[in-house]
Order: sequence, then C-alpha cells, then structure tokens
Amino acid sequence: MPPQVRISCPTCRREEEVEAGFRWRPFCSRRCKIIDLGNWLDEVYRISVPVQDEELTEFPESAAN
Ligand SMILES: [Zn+2]
Repeated sequence: MPPQVRISCPTCRREEEVEAGFRWRPFCSRRCKIIDLGNWLDEVYRISVPVQDEELTEFPESAAN
C-alpha cells in the first residue's frame, strides 16, 4: 500500500487521508484546488501576494494527465 498522509483541505477544511503522491494535495480534490486557484487569482489581480511555491511545485501538472 502506498503511504498515506493526512491533509487538511484549505478550501473545504475537510480532513482526509490521501496517498503521499496525491495529485491535488493539499486539497482534497480537483474541485477544491480549482476553487482555491480561482480565489487566488482574484487576489492577485488586486494585490500582489507572494505565492506559497512549496505546495504548488509538488504538482507536476504536465506529467500526469
Ligand atoms: Zn476540499
């Protein structure tokens, strides 16, 4: 079995156990990531906020489809 990690979804606050390589970490799902990304982009256009690269760089978006 792949190692499981506990995440706390920043969007819906749900706590979940997911695989260590889970694609949407730290979100519980694609949906929550997109919601958060939408919120984030909205912020960026108004104020310039430093991104927390740490989480984002964990997703090799182009690698997995
Ligand atoms: Zn969520």
